[in-house]
Formats: sequence, structure tokens, C-alpha cells
Amino acid sequence: MSARILVVDDQPLNVKLLEAKLTAEYYNVVTAAGGVEALEKASDVCPDLILLDVMMPGMDGYEVCQRLKGDPELNHIPVVMVTALDAVADRIRGIDAGADDFLTKPINDVALFARVRSLLRMKLALDELRLRDDISLQFGALDASGKGDDNGEGGRILVVENEPYDRKLIERVLAEHHQVTVVTNGEEALATVSASFELIVVSVDLGGEDGLRVCSRIRSRDDTRNVSLLMLIDEADDTRLAKGLDLGVNDYLYKPLDKNELIARVRNQIRHHRYQERLRGTYHRSVSMAITDSLTGLYNRHYLDSHLAALLERSKADKRPLAVAIIDIDHFKLVNDTHGHGTGDQVLRELASRLENSIRASDLVARLGGEEFLLVMSDSDLDTARAITARICRDMEAEPFATEQVEGGLPVTVSIGVAVIDRRDATPDDLVKRADEALYEAKNNGRNQVIAAVG
Ligand code: GH3
Ligand code: MG
Ligand code: MG
Repeated sequence: MSARILVVDDQPLNVKLLEAKLTAEYYNVVTAAGGVEALEKASDVCPDLILLDVMMPGMDGYEVCQRLKGDPELNHIPVVMVTALDAVADRIRGIDAGADDFLTKPINDVALFARVRSLLRMKLALDELRLRDDISLQFGALDASGKGDDNGEGGRILVVENEPYDRKLIERVLAEHHQVTVVTNGEEALATVSASFELIVVSVDLGGEDGLRVCSRIRSRDDTRNVSLLMLIDEADDTRLAKGLDLGVNDYLYKPLDKNELIARVRNQIRHHRYQERLRGTYHRSVSMAITDSLTGLYNRHYLDSHLAALLERSKADKRPLAVAIIDIDHFKLVNDTHGHGTGDQVLRELASRLENSIRASDLVARLGGEEFLLVMSDSDLDTARAITARICRDMEAEPFATEQVEGGLPVTVSIGVAVIDRRDATPDDLVKRADEALYEAKNNGRNQVIAAVG
């Protein structure tokens, strides 16, 4: 994905430096040399992230940030304030102005890219949610008051810290806005952690015990793999920092801890987690029947048509790939004929819930009708889409479906046709049609397989 980043700094050298670093990682960079220009560019190009210098003549970074956050069209864009080293007062003003995160000059590359990735992930989830909300609003399935952005407060947080001074500091600072549970070692952490926590703050050093091991255990457990992780690490420990990020830790904070940074990063992670959870589907079950399928609780065809049209437009404007897959149960008629319609319904419901659990939060699954489902994969090229659907295909076959009718469960397989957007796709139907043709080929080829429409 090529995200657009707006770099704002009055020093041309700083702008050049950041531009070079970000461009090398394939980000699309837009620059501004002052506050007024920054606001203009922000509304012109709609960046995915803004790196904002604080000290600028004329309109400074605080004011720019305040104006961005006060504009309903722009306030969803994450803003990272770039402050001078150790300027604690700057950070407090930054938080007050609504900044989402901080970086200190001189900018460390690992820190820069960790922040950028983390905030872009959040932006992506948020964009997806805004789009879904917009469409739900059109259907009258969600009232406008339900929209509002989450402030990231009232989070349920587990803190795993062995060092008494830091433990007290974290507890005191976070308890002002969140519900905090504190434990001191890995064993206690793993016994306490559950899906009801939104964020886990883990110190990498747990008195001779490796905090990363705790992170890895949390990530690999089914019930806690989606919980956000924030690690606390010594500034010099680059090796473990890289390892942690590889393990799927969402963000990190250097020790000695800065209280304001702690507050900001925690708030970000809580918000990020909530967006992901809302996207993950539990949320749309509660919206009106107008957009959901009553048997499976998935989005229905009606909703999908609107959503896909919006996604297609966005994908074209942003030049981001978009993939769809049609998933069709093999010989489903036989399930009905052999075991009855009730069992057929049961299979449809289980398939729907398996699909929901196996997709990424930014993906969407809908029931097209009958035993056909459509999976929409944002920011996915053909290889990614093929990998995702191949896994789905394998997982369906690997685990028989639960039913009282058949001991050991009912074996069910699916055939999948995949297509990725290209220039020829003028409407969502064009894209879906190519996926459908690929599906037809998968059926003809012997079923239980994925075929991708190429070229
Ligand atoms: P193929 O492998 O070629 O896809 O074969 P198939 O039997 O799965 O496909 P076909 O289109 O011939 O049959 C689809 C069946 O799905 C027929 C229809 O009765 C059944 N069906 C459609 N909607 C529902 C439903 O809501 N509940 C149940 N139980 N069955 C349904
Ligand atoms: Mg079928
Ligand atoms: Mg069919």
C-alpha cells in the first residue's frame, strides 16, 4: 500500500531528510514549508498521515494541529508532532492541541517507521469504518449520533511491570482515564489476560524474565491474539525492539518513561483496538435488518452493492489494489437433500462465522444469496488475495462442520473465484463478474480450490 504522508517543516533540510527516508520505503510524500501551506495541502491531497514540526514562524505546529482537529473533514487524519528533544512542555501542548503521537528530533528511523506504520494501520481501519458508517447512514440503519470518534478513554488495560517505580508511575498515570490491572510477572500475566482487555502494556525486562516471551504467548492464544500490545523497552535495546515489532507488538515506549508519551500512546492503541473490533463484525450485527442477512448476520447483497461501489471509487482515486472473492459451497444441494434443510442452514451459519473469524478486520464478507458469499479485501493485490482465500479453502476442508446428524461432523468444501481490480472495471459488477467466471472455472476444475482471474 502506498500511503500519502504530508511532511511539514520550515527548514528545507529537515523536509528533504524526511522525504528521502519515507520515499525510500515507498511512501508517497507531499511537503509544506509552513502552517498555512500545511492546511491547504491537507485539504487538497487528503493525506493519510501528517508529520508536523512544532517550531515554525507564523502559524506554529500547535495551531495547525488545532485547526486540523477542529475541521470535520480533516480531523480523522493522524498527526505526529515533531518536537525538540526533552521538551516536555511541548508535548503537553501537543496533546492539548489534539496530536495523535510524537517524535523527537533528531528522528530515529526505527521510531519513525514504527509510528508511521502503527498510525497508518489505524487510519486504514478508521477509513473503512467511516465508509461503512456512511453507507449504513444512507440505509437509515445507523443514526448519525452513533458515528462520533472514540476518544480512547475508559480502556481496560493490563500492565505487566516488575520494576516498582515504573509500576506505580504507570498505574497512577493511567488510572486517571482507564481501568488498570497490574501484575508483576509473566505467569500472572498469562493467567490474568483475556479478550476483555483492550491493551496490554508489557515491560520487556521482567526481572530476569523476557517480556517478549509474554508478548509472543499473548499473540498466539486464540482469545487474546487481537488485543493491542505496547512494550516498554530501554532506548539502547534495538535488537529486542525489532524482535518485538516482528512478533506483532503494536507500539513501544522508551524507558525512562515520559508520562505524556505514555498517555498519548495508550490512547492511540485503545482507539486502534476499538476500531478493529468494530470492523471485525460484532458491530454490524446490531445494525438494521435492511443491510444484514437474517440467517447468517452477515451484510446482505443490498448493502454490498453500495459499499463495493464506494470502495471501487476510493481504490481508483488512491491507486490502491482491491480484491474480491466469491466463495461457493460445493455440492450444497446434496447437503440439503441428504440431511435436510435445517442442517443446510446450520452449515451456512457456521461457514459465515468461520469466514468472519478468518478475515482481517479491514476485509468484509457478505452473503450474496443461497450458498454464495462475497469477500472484499481492501489493499490486496492478486497474490495477497490468493493467499488469503487459499487458506480459507484449506481451513474449510480441514475441519468438518458441526451437526448432530453426522458423527465427527459434516465434511464441507468450497470453491473460490478471485479477481483484483484493473482499469477495465468500470463498475463493481465488472469486478464481481470476473470473480464469478473464475469460480465457474474452479467448479469445472474439480471444486475445492481457488482460481484467480488473471489479466
Ligand atoms: P456446486 O458445487 O456446483 O456449487 O453445487 P451446489 O449443489 O452447491 O449448487 P446449486 O446451485 O445446484 O445448489 C444450491 C443449493 O443451495 C440449492 C438450494 O436449495 C440451496 N440453498 C439456497 N439457499 C439456501 C438456504 O438459505 N438454506 C438452505 N438450507 N439451502 C439453501
Ligand atoms: Mg454450490
Ligand atoms: Mg451455487
